[in-house]
Amino acid sequence: MTAPVRSVVVVGGSLAGLSAARALREQGYDGQVVVVGEEERLPYDRPPLSKEFLAGTLDLEDLALTTADDADLDLDWRLGDPASGLDRGGRAVVLASGRQVPADGVVVATGARARALPGARLAGVHTLRTVEDAVALRAELGVGRRLVVIGGGFIGAEVASTARALGVEVTVVESDVVPLHRVLGEDLAQACAGLHADHGVRLLAGEVVTGLGGNGRVREVHLAGGRTEPADVVVVGIGAIPNVEWLAGSGVEHDHRGVRTDAAGATNVAQVVATGDCAFSYCAYAGATVRHEHWTHAVQQPATAVASLLGHTTTARRAAPYFWSDQYGARLQFAGHRTPDDAVEILEGDLVDRRFVAGYRRDGELVAVFAMNQPKLFGKWRRQLMPRHATTAA
Ligand SMILES: Cc1cc2nc3c(=O)[nH]c(=O)nc-3n(C[C@H](O)[C@H](O)[C@H](O)COP(=O)(O)OP(=O)(O)OC[C@H]3O[C@@H](n4cnc5c(N)ncnc54)[C@H](O)[C@@H]3O)c2cc1C
Repeated sequence: MTAPVRSVVVVGGSLAGLSAARALREQGYDGQVVVVGEEERLPYDRPPLSKEFLAGTLDLEDLALTTADDADLDLDWRLGDPASGLDRGGRAVVLASGRQVPADGVVVATGARARALPGARLAGVHTLRTVEDAVALRAELGVGRRLVVIGGGFIGAEVASTARALGVEVTVVESDVVPLHRVLGEDLAQACAGLHADHGVRLLAGEVVTGLGGNGRVREVHLAGGRTEPADVVVVGIGAIPNVEWLAGSGVEHDHRGVRTDAAGATNVAQVVATGDCAFSYCAYAGATVRHEHWTHAVQQPATAVASLLGHTTTARRAAPYFWSDQYGARLQFAGHRTPDDAVEILEGDLVDRRFVAGYRRDGELVAVFAMNQPKLFGKWRRQLMPRHATTAA
C-alpha cells in the first residue's frame, strides 16, 4: 500500500495547474500544496490572447484566472522558478534556482510552448503563447501593415481575424490543401477557409514556407517554387510542443508527444500524474492515446488526475472532448472525435450561410459534431454524443 499523500507539488502554474490545485481541496486533501510556475504571473487565461486581448478590448486584469475564493485554498506559489528536474521516484521537484521541493505526490501540468520556425530570429517574427507574446505582437499591428500568418490552424486564423479587424493587410500561408483539413475534413474546412475570403484576408493554401528574408528585420516570406510574399510582421502558428524536457531522467515516461498517462492521468511512476496540454493520455472517447490542447480539457481533466493521485476511485471521463474558436465574429465549436473515414452530413442550416451544425457518423453512429454560428443547436446535438469505449488504460 502506498503511504498517504501529505505534500503535493503542482508543476505548471496555469489553467490545468490551478484546476488541479482547486480539485485537491475539493476532494478533501488538506496537506501542503506547492505550485511551481515558470511564468512570474499568477494563472491567466490564454484564449483571449489571440482574440479580445490582442484586439485591445480586454486588459491584463480581465485575464486573471484566480479569484478571491482561491485565497482559501492555502496554496504556496513558487513563481518564476521553473522545475528543472524530478528525482527518480518523484520524491522531490528540483527548481532552476537549485532549490528542492519535497513531494509525496506530483501533478505535472507544464503545458506546451509555441513551435518556432527553425532559424527565424528576425525582428518582427512572432509566436503566440504568453501575455508577453501578445503584447509584443499587438504593438506591431498598425493599420496598413502587412502581416503574413504562417499556419492556418485555429490560432493562426484567430490572429488573422483580429489583425484584419485592426486594419492590417493579412495573408495566411497554409501548407495543407485547405486549413483545418486534418481536424474537420475537406468540406467543413472549406467552409471555415471561406471566412478568410469573406473578410478580405488572402489565403495561400498548399504553399510551403521555405524561409524568411530580411536584414535584422523580416521583410519577406519565401515560398517553395521561388515566390516571395512581402511582410512587415510574421506570426508563426504551426502548433505547440509539450513542455516535458524537464522530466528527463525522472523515469516518467514521456516523449515529443507529451507525458504518457492512462485515462485517469496516472503516469508509469506511482503518485505522479499529468494533465492539461502536456499530457499524452488514453482518451476513452477516442479509444486512442491523444494530446488534447483545449481549454475545457485543462479545466475538467485535472479533477480525475487528482483523484487518481489521492488514491480515490476514479471514473475517467468518457464524455466527448470539446473546443471552440472565435474567428471573424463567427463561433466555431467542435465536440467528439473524428477519423478521416467518418461520413459527414449537415444536420442543421447551410454551409453557404456560414450557419450550420454538421455531424460525423461512424457505422451510422454520431461520433462528432461541428457548428458554425449555431451555439444553441450545437448544444442540442452535442448532448446526443454518447459516451464511448471502456475506460481501459492504454
Ligand atoms: C493564443 C491561444 C488561444 C487559445 N484559444 C483557445 C480557444 O479558443 N479554445 C480552446 O479550447 N482552447 C484555446 N487555447 C488552448 C488553451 O489555452 C490551453 O489548452 C490551455 O491553456 C492549457 O492549459 P495548461 O495549463 O495545460 O497549459 P499552459 O496554459 O500551456 O500552461 C502551462 C504552464 O506551465 C508553465 N511551465 C512550463 N514548463 C514549466 C516548468 N518546467 N516548471 C514550471 N512551470 C512550467 C508554463 O510557463 C505555463 O505557465 C488557446 C491557447 C492559446 C495559446
